[in-house]
Amino acid sequence: MKTFVYIDHFKGEVQPASWEAIGVAKSFGTAVALVFGEGTDEIAKAAFEYGADEVIVVDDAALTDYRAEPYASTLSALASSATPDLILFPTTARTRELAAMAAVDLSTGVLTDVAKFEKNGDQLVATRPIYEGKVLEKTVCSGKPIMATIPARAFPKPERVAGKTGTLTKGVAKTDALTTVVGYSASESAVNIGDAAVIVSGGRGVSNNPSLTPPADMDEKQAELWVAQQGFALITELAKLLGGAVGASRAAVDGGYVTYAHQVGQTGKVVSPDLYIACGISGAIQHLVGMRNSKVIVAINKDADAPVFKQARYGVVGDLFAIVPALTEAMKKKMGK
Ligand SMILES: Cc1cc2nc3c(=O)[nH]c(=O)nc-3n(C[C@H](O)[C@H](O)[C@H](O)COP(=O)(O)OP(=O)(O)OC[C@H]3O[C@@H](n4cnc5c(N)ncnc54)[C@H](O)[C@@H]3O)c2cc1C
Repeated sequence: MKTFVYIDHFKGEVQPASWEAIGVAKSFGTAVALVFGEGTDEIAKAAFEYGADEVIVVDDAALTDYRAEPYASTLSALASSATPDLILFPTTARTRELAAMAAVDLSTGVLTDVAKFEKNGDQLVATRPIYEGKVLEKTVCSGKPIMATIPARAFPKPERVAGKTGTLTKGVAKTDALTTVVGYSASESAVNIGDAAVIVSGGRGVSNNPSLTPPADMDEKQAELWVAQQGFALITELAKLLGGAVGASRAAVDGGYVTYAHQVGQTGKVVSPDLYIACGISGAIQHLVGMRNSKVIVAINKDADAPVFKQARYGVVGDLFAIVPALTEAMKKKMGK
């Protein structure tokens, strides 16, 4: 089976699930990595080192910035001539668009957010979560090539073998486009909780510490935010120590404690880190669907009956303002910091 793996990157920074997709492709047969952009030598090198048998590089100034039209046309043209059985993408905002456009060109279908593949004779059966993860749907694609996106951290990342090489092929860009990127500006989406191996998350409980006294001139909302800032400072310190990212419940985001980019859940990000520490989060279903695939869940909550404890491997009943700093200190000692 020949699989194209689209390596998704922004200005040379690759979405790690691209490497995970190479691992999936290798488990089926031949992995051909597709690297589009300008000045992409380092990415092509990394694709070989993560196990690609072949890398097709389309290096063209017209592809410097991602735009759906030229990227989809270039991908469709390559797929039409090389006829892969499967095209894999890491799930990102860009690839959802790219895969959909290329699928229209190729008259095939896209299976999104696939968490598992099984071979059943000639068929490739994809398992993907639907209804907020309550049901796992098994789907097949009757079009050719099959196209599928995989979420971050759903499949193991192959080991990187320094210096490994393979066949390097140069592809031709299709450059017709009606849109042009005229610039970028930094946005809150700089936070990427989707790829984090450790996430320490805070909820509404982060603003609840009666022993803290906000400055007297603050109104009620300002005082709540002030307390939440102290709480999130503790959470951020623990997250940094563990090399992780800061997550949040929707209540914390709606309360203005942190930006939306941190939100985990049904209307935020779905994450699956190795370790998820939920602090002052009750465990509403809309939050749980975003984090219940984490490998180890730790919950810290004052309320022993909080539903989050049902999902947690380890639960600590108590005040996060006491427990989070104690955990940070204990981890510092353990890590010799
Ligand atoms: C359509 C829809 C979509 C939604 N999408 C999302 C989503 O994507 N993500 C999401 O998170 N929610 C989402 N929600 C909201 C969700 O239903 C809950 O309201 C929200 O998750 C609650 O956030 P929370 O647990 O932080 O707050 P709460 O439910 O208020 O829980 C706060 C918890 O903190 C504990 N606590 C208080 N003080 C302390 C302390 N000092 N130390 C320790 N524990 C303490 C309390 O015991 C309590 O359990 C959605 C809702 C709807 C209707």
